[in-house]
Amino acid sequence: MSYLPIKQILQAPTVGQDITVKGWVRTKRESKNAVFIALNDGSTIHNIQAVSEAGQLPDDTLRLITTGACVAITGTLVESLGSGQAVEIKIAEVHVYGPADPEKYPLQPKRHSLEFLREIAHLRPRTNTFSAILRIRHALAFAVHKYYNDNGFFYLNTPIITASDAEGAGEMFRVSTLDPINPPKTEDGKIDYSQDFFGRETNLTVSGQLEGELGAMALGKIYTFGPTFRAENSNTTRHLAEFWMIEPEMAFYELEDNMALAEDFVKSVIRYALDNCADDLAFLDNRQKEEEKNKKKEEQSEMSLLEKLRFVVDNDFERLTYTEAVEILRNSKPAKKGQFQYEVSWGIDLQSEHERYLVEKHFKKPVILTNYPREIKAFYMKQDSEPATNSRGEVFGPTVRAMDVLFPGIGEIIGGSQREDDLDKLTGRMAEVGIEPEAIWWYLDTRRFGTAPHSGFGLGFERLVLFVTGMGNIRDVIPFPRTPKSAEF
Ligand code: ATP
Ligand code: MG
Ligand code: MG
Ligand code: MG
Repeated sequence: MSYLPIKQILQAPTVGQDITVKGWVRTKRESKNAVFIALNDGSTIHNIQAVSEAGQLPDDTLRLITTGACVAITGTLVESLGSGQAVEIKIAEVHVYGPADPEKYPLQPKRHSLEFLREIAHLRPRTNTFSAILRIRHALAFAVHKYYNDNGFFYLNTPIITASDAEGAGEMFRVSTLDPINPPKTEDGKIDYSQDFFGRETNLTVSGQLEGELGAMALGKIYTFGPTFRAENSNTTRHLAEFWMIEPEMAFYELEDNMALAEDFVKSVIRYALDNCADDLAFLDNRQKEEEKNKKKEEQSEMSLLEKLRFVVDNDFERLTYTEAVEILRNSKPAKKGQFQYEVSWGIDLQSEHERYLVEKHFKKPVILTNYPREIKAFYMKQDSEPATNSRGEVFGPTVRAMDVLFPGIGEIIGGSQREDDLDKLTGRMAEVGIEPEAIWWYLDTRRFGTAPHSGFGLGFERLVLFVTGMGNIRDVIPFPRTPKSAEF
């Protein structure tokens, strides 16, 4: 039996047409003369209303039509007399595929808390909020591929199981076929990975960058878009143990080119969502306005979700160095009043409170920070030739050509850099931080043979979805969040 998506019917309604729709009942309302069913099939935020005369549907069927039941409705599309919808279906027949016991079905027609919905992540896509988020997530993913395809990048699939630790941060999930309780040991008491399926210690990837660089040094411009894993026990609203990362890597790009690409890229995908997800964004915009009303006046945001998205798309990002940012932060009101949890001094890794101060209070727009201290960044970043100095002429330590893009409400959304392309400098830095050249001999080969300036960055896809949907918790923008406490399904 064929059926029409509700989105298609509502976009171009043909009154008088006989149609079938299939989906899940949101509400059923009975009046003296009629039965009203609101049906949603996931294709759009909007429900379609179906109406039958009282007594027309068999009692057995009517009883099974409750919130959450899955049904097929056949009938004629007619103009609606009620307010709220232009057209509705005059029901000829209802077929119930699957009832949903109203005593047990957890999603009743009321607003459930996000905390409660996280406990029923398997059903929450049936709510307006989550279906809107998932459709926007889809559109953004599509926009990512479209952007890179339109701009001459190749999609490179990097491995998920790997022996390399791109970030050197050691927050990895081990992958092993060995008995975890009683693994075979070598003579010196270490786990004997030579008996493992992979013959050596392997992990789930934390980033596809190092392999991405190999691609860039052959294809010119590549991007990865795949799952990445970090065993960080951070119960923040910005971190997941499993998240999706988009990592473009470009030969012949220097830091300036990298920044320009990052800005153009995020603006372009956000614009795509504004152009293609208008209904879902309008729904989330309203939702956020309602939430804002419950907040204290001083905590209410000055812009609505849609205003914020348009603002980001229409304005230049602010660009400054880490050293300049530290100066601003040290002279800021919260620093003087001791309101930052972490004190700011040159050399610290900025915390999200500092990043958000710069973006939300000082510049009031997205910020790209560059030239971070070498000591807090990964070994592969290109070293600057001069150490940093501030406006008073103070000289600080060595810096690297790193860039972080900071967004309102989020903090770091992108981390990237120009890569060290000089073999001696790279191996020198590796020796300082204790990485054996043998461990990534294949990576060093790109510097050994035909090295070239190149750059890239990583965008956490969920942080982008978080920003575009205006949600407050990263667990609410991925279908199945993996956090220290959730891995059941
Ligand atoms: P943060 O400082 O927020 O912990 P990071 O500097 O550790 O991030 P990078 O290694 O630079 O992160 O990774 C690149 C991007 O991946 C980040 O800019 C961010 O958007 C995203 N990201 C990093 N860690 C996570 C995580 N645990 N969950 C979701 N996204 C993440
Ligand atoms: Mg981190
Ligand atoms: Mg960071
Ligand atoms: Mg980073």
